[in-house]
Amino acid sequence: MLTDSYQRKHDYLRVSITDHCNLRCEYCMPPEGVELLSHDEVLRNEEFIRLIGIFVSLGVVKVRFTGGEPLLRRGFIDIVAAARDRFPDLELCLTTNGTLLADFFPYLRRHRLRKLNISLDTLSRARYRKITRRDCFENVIGSIDLALEDPGFDVKINAVLSADTIAELDDFLEYFKDRNASLRFIERMPFTAESGNGTFLPSDRLVEELAARGELTRDRAIDTNVALMYRLMYRGRYPIRIGVIPPVSNKFCASCNRLRLMSNGNLKTCLHSETDHGLKELMRGGADDAAIAREILAAVSQKHEGHRLECRAGEGGCCALVNTGCMSKIGG
Ligand code: SAM
Ligand code: SF4
Repeated sequence: MLTDSYQRKHDYLRVSITDHCNLRCEYCMPPEGVELLSHDEVLRNEEFIRLIGIFVSLGVVKVRFTGGEPLLRRGFIDIVAAARDRFPDLELCLTTNGTLLADFFPYLRRHRLRKLNISLDTLSRARYRKITRRDCFENVIGSIDLALEDPGFDVKINAVLSADTIAELDDFLEYFKDRNASLRFIERMPFTAESGNGTFLPSDRLVEELAARGELTRDRAIDTNVALMYRLMYRGRYPIRIGVIPPVSNKFCASCNRLRLMSNGNLKTCLHSETDHGLKELMRGGADDAAIAREILAAVSQKHEGHRLECRAGEGGCCALVNTGCMSKIGG
């Protein structure tokens, strides 16, 4: 078991399978994008599978594919198929911007990848274009609707909180009131210059606004390690599941069970950690599984207690005290 010095057990691995992305979300990367890894720096399919296997042998039971945009990775389905084939009981999940999702449903069903987190910050096409700097709103909303038609998928909609979220809250609730999706609102973490532009919205403000729109009940029974879960009885008759994720204003480091494998083969024990543990070099240098497992265990044992993001809501946003790179590289 991957237990750190604060007795946290890590059974959840997020795997960023590519640093490429077809959007340029303003909270994630600059308009020109980010410098990409060379082909050789990125793990090959079989390297991902081998490392996932080592993590599974150490107690990981859940793997989420993320990125960048994971569906841009050539061979994405081969990785999923191999993971499913080798680890029949592993919970497989995907976080995607949804732009390319429609073509993948048959494969996801076949390989029992059922947990889909789809990112959508707005229901306005114009605002979508402003946030993502691309015009893909119709594709995404179409994919979300297709996913929701299949009860075999567990769909969560991820929205990054900003001051504009409040203005659009009614549109969100209206659209999803009778669709079977959980809505998850994530406080924006400071990775880009936009972080300091004064639009950071602490999740407490969202909770106040939700409470003004119907009976709002905290449902601790369905809290996850990161999300505070609520049920909103919207307009008196539509129950909506809502997750609030407050990494900045109310950090959840004490219950963190996550590790992150980046597409360059580096292990990060925390999204905000400045230390990367290079597993690719070890693997390509001929290390056997036991040696790689020892390196992973050592990295986990050094995991620090919590991140050092600082919330300065009301003073122009929030800021990072560490420089860890952008979300698209680490895998949000
Ligand atoms: N491209 C995929 C997507 O957008 O869903 C997967 C990778 S993306 C980095 C994963 C998640 O991180 C998305 O839900 C995105 O909204 C979130 N994210 C990116 N930058 C963020 C930030 N600065 N603060 C909070 N969440 C962020
Ligand atoms: Fe947006 Fe995800 Fe791409 Fe970042 S990685 S720019 S959050 S779609």
